[in-house]
Amino acid sequence: MSRATETSIFTEMTELARRTGAVNLGQGVPDLDSPGALLSDVASAVLAGANQYPPATGHPALRAAVAEHQRRRYGIALDQDAEVLVTTGATEALAAAVLALTGPGDEIVTFDPCYDAYAADARLSGATLVTVGLAIDGDGFALDSDALRAALTPRSRLLLLNSPHNPTGKVFTPDELGRIAELCREHELTVLTDEVYEHLVYDGARHLPIATLPGMRERTLTVSSAGKTFNVTGWKVGWISGPAELVAAVAAVKQWLTYASGTPYQEAIAGALGGVEEWAKELRGVLASGRDLLAGGLTAAGLRPYRADAGYFLQADIRPWGFADGPRFCRELPELAGVVAIPTSAFQQGVDTAPWLVRFSFCRRPDALREAVTRLSALTAPSARPDR
Ligand SMILES: *Cc1c(COP(=O)(O)O)cnc(C)c1O
Repeated sequence: MSRATETSIFTEMTELARRTGAVNLGQGVPDLDSPGALLSDVASAVLAGANQYPPATGHPALRAAVAEHQRRRYGIALDQDAEVLVTTGATEALAAAVLALTGPGDEIVTFDPCYDAYAADARLSGATLVTVGLAIDGDGFALDSDALRAALTPRSRLLLLNSPHNPTGKVFTPDELGRIAELCREHELTVLTDEVYEHLVYDGARHLPIATLPGMRERTLTVSSAGKTFNVTGWKVGWISGPAELVAAVAAVKQWLTYASGTPYQEAIAGALGGVEEWAKELRGVLASGRDLLAGGLTAAGLRPYRADAGYFLQADIRPWGFADGPRFCRELPELAGVVAIPTSAFQQGVDTAPWLVRFSFCRRPDALREAVTRLSALTAPSARPDR
C-alpha cells in the first residue's frame, strides 16, 4: 500500500469518527493521566528559565538518567556522554539512524506489519525496505526465522526491530530474539531496535532488549521515548543509545534535523525516569484492564481478538462478521456500531496475507472503552449485522 493511501485511511477514519460521533479507537493517542510531579516539574523548569537550547546531544541530566535506567533495568552499561543521544521523540532517533547508516543500494529488513515511519525513513535515505511477515500462530504472532533468513542478502545493512511491537502487541520471546541475533551476527548487520513500549508489557510477558544478547551490544542502537511511558506523546522527548561510533554517526545527522529541542521537558523527564518502575506498574494495570475490557467486548460481539501482551493495540479478526477486507469493515463500522478502528493493512508494507485484521486501540479512559464495548455488543445478534 502506498504512503498516500495509508495517510488517507488515518485521516478518513478520524474524519469519520468526528462526523458520526463514533468512539475513536483508531488512533494511538492516550487520553490517560501523566504523573503529577512530572507535569509540575516542567512548569517549574520553564519558570526557572530552562528555555534555551540544551546541548545538541541532550540535557546532561537526561543522558545520565537514561544511562542509569538501562543499567538498572537491563544491566546495559553506557557512557552517558558518548553512548546516549537525546532526540525529538523516538521518531527523530529512528529517522536520524536510518539516514546515518543506510543509503541507496542498502536494504533495511523489518517485520510486517510495522510502524509506518519505517517505510518513510527508508524512502528518505534511498534504501529499500525489505519486509518479513510475522506468522500468525494461534492467538498471537510469531517470528518466521526461515523467512527472515531468506530475506537477508549481501545488501542487507540494518535490521529494524520493534519489540514490544506496534501494531500487534507482540513481545518477541528470548528464543526469537536469540534467532534474530544469530542471523544479525552471521550477516554483520547493525540492529536498530524501537523499544518505546518497553514499560507497557502485561501479564507474565517480559521485555528483553536485543542489545543484552551475546555479541549484540556492539552492533545495536536502542531507541526509546517518554511519550508512551508517561502519557506525554506531545512532548516528543526520545533517546537512542549504543556504541559510541554509531551514536556519533546518528548525532551527526540529528544536528541538522532539529539540532536540539525541549529543554524543560528533558529536564523534567530526567527526574521522572528514576521513579518509572512504580509509575509504570500503575499504568500497566490501567492499560491491561482496558485491554481486557475491549477484548471481552470484541469477543462478546462475535469478533476474534488476538492476544496483546504489550502496548496500546489489539488485533481482531473480522471474518466472523462476514467481512474479508479491513478497509471496508472500518469504513462501515462507524455506521454499524459507532466505533472507529484502523485496518491493519495500513501498517503492511509487503504482501498482505491477513487483510481481515483490524487494529483497535485501548489506550483510552475506561468510560470510552465501556461505551465502545456497549455499542459493539448491541450487534451481537447475527440479525443485527449485515449478511455477507
Ligand atoms: C509512538 C511510536 C513511536 C514514536 O515515538 P515518539 O517518541 O512519539 O516520536 C515510535 N515507534 C513506535 C512503535 C510507536 O508506537
